[in-house]
Amino acid sequence: DLHGSSGQDEKIFVSVRMRPLNEREITRNDVCDWECINNATIIFKSNMPERSMFPTAYTFDRVFGSESNTKQVYEEGAKEIALAAVSGINSSIFAYGQTSSGKTYTMSGITEYAVADIFEYMNQHKEREFALKFSAMEIYNEAVRDLLGTDSTPLRVLDDPEKGTVVEKLIEETLIDWNHLQELLSICEAQRQIGETSLNENSSRSHQIIRLTVESSGREYSGAGNSSTLTATVNFVDLAGSERASQTLAAGARLKEGSHINRSLLTLGTVIRKLSKGRNGHIPYRDSKLTRILHNSLGGNARTAMICTISPARSHVEQSRNTLWFASCAK
Ligand code: ADP
Ligand code: MG
Repeated sequence: DLHGSSGQDEKIFVSVRMRPLNEREITRNDVCDWECINNATIIFKSNMPERSMFPTAYTFDRVFGSESNTKQVYEEGAKEIALAAVSGINSSIFAYGQTSSGKTYTMSGITEYAVADIFEYMNQHKEREFALKFSAMEIYNEAVRDLLGTDSTPLRVLDDPEKGTVVEKLIEETLIDWNHLQELLSICEAQRQIGETSLNENSSRSHQIIRLTVESSGREYSGAGNSSTLTATVNFVDLAGSERASQTLAAGARLKEGSHINRSLLTLGTVIRKLSKGRNGHIPYRDSKLTRILHNSLGGNARTAMICTISPARSHVEQSRNTLWFASCAK
């Protein structure tokens, strides 16, 4: 089944990563109000329970304090889900959080670790023939752009009866080696910056998806039996800054058109909340470009990791609470 809806539902693996205070925050004597008291619980240290309407402690599958490194976040919060692709299972790994909380820092590291591990897996499993394909896109104001292309014409998202949702004409490169990956990532980075300049906006409003597709088939001579072909994708999703979405939600505003509202981010929130409550009922994948593109890799048999990034600073406490609230809804 294309969308895996007949399979067993997997829970979303939810983790939280807090970055260290940065120079600017230290200079203005900002302080850290949060503490990871074990590997699953983060507490707001400065709460006075009798006076606060907010929770003091939040528990997730995993929390990573400011001393954590990206390798650890990858190993404990994303690796297994990223590597599901080598056994034919689709997956998505998201970074969610306010602008400057560490989404790009975290997701770019995770993407590289995952590619290294997939390459290693391919080398260790010579009984199968593998191809690893790379594509990258950006969603800005519900327009999809190819980050490997030079043409800024938006790509169309189509429903294919056999393949499910496809992004028409999306460039797919077969990854040769580590240097090739670095080359492609720098093309994406350059394309993203061109987009920012021409739209006079920063990347805090766009979503970036790096998509790896693992194709494999058994080699004829191996005698290892299984000669069937497997294809699966893993999506590394660096989401737009959550600050606008949470303001909109907090105001109780309804989703409507408008540049200040990020349809894809709000719809993703709805889809994630519905999936985490069980899959009974309608899941509104079709309501945004992001959720359409990820449909085959979100829910059903697909594996999902949500890494929520927060700033430690007191000055960002409201946004951090919004992010932890979102994270709580996803588990
Ligand atoms: P976002 O993508 O959420 O807007 P970035 O990933 O660009 O945020 O991070 C903002 C800044 O903070 C960058 O300069 C980045 O290098 C730094 N940063 C983010 N997370 C960490 C971390 N865990 N450790 C050290 N520096 C970090
Ligand atoms: Mg970023």
